[in-house]
Amino acid sequence: MTFEETGLKPEILKAIAEMGFENPTPIQEQTISHLINSTQDLVALAQTGTGKTAAFGLPVINNISMQIKEVQSLILCPTRELCLQITRDLDKFSAYIPGFKTIPVYGGADITKQIRELKSGGQIVVGTPGRVHDLIRRKLLNISAIRWMILDEADEMLTMGFKEELDAILATTPAEKQTLLFSATMPLGISEIKSKYLNNALEMSV
Ligand code: AMP
Repeated sequence: MTFEETGLKPEILKAIAEMGFENPTPIQEQTISHLINSTQDLVALAQTGTGKTAAFGLPVINNISMQIKEVQSLILCPTRELCLQITRDLDKFSAYIPGFKTIPVYGGADITKQIRELKSGGQIVVGTPGRVHDLIRRKLLNISAIRWMILDEADEMLTMGFKEELDAILATTPAEKQTLLFSATMPLGISEIKSKYLNNALEMSV
């Protein structure tokens, strides 16, 4: 399969060609067309290095509407490093979509700058659960219009003790949305999140 066959928009195809991506990785083959064409939830058992950031990032960027002003996708991940890495990748994928913005929010850093960024608006917010929860509680981050909820390295988030924040955040998301869960392992805690927050999810493993 080629990227052209996945149905991604020309602006995105141009960006990934410039990044040197020639063909989709196996997980990208499975996720991109599914996410472009279906609103069914997804659970993917996938390690890092498999291309999972593009697996969720490309189709979500593809489907986001530039006419809507609210945050349309929230991506939760375990660490500041991963948060910045995902943001860098999404910035590259969306380089040819004018006005597209991804906002990283994570703990251990000045919140004032992050608040300013949120106020100026963006399509995607990528954050660590503690900081995201804090911002939602303080009504500085509004997730009532999100259409894609993504949990990246979900098992790591549980290992790091973010269970309560995850529950609190997921409980405030709108009912009408697509939830994507990526995890390298499937411990009991992940099965619980899956049965509590995902509906009839398509399961894949790479
Ligand atoms: P990830 O699993 O998202 O951390 O990606 C691992 C690495 O593979 C990153 O450096 C990506 O930029 C790169 N990558 C992702 N998808 C592709 C692809 N289709 N072709 C070539 N490299 C890729």
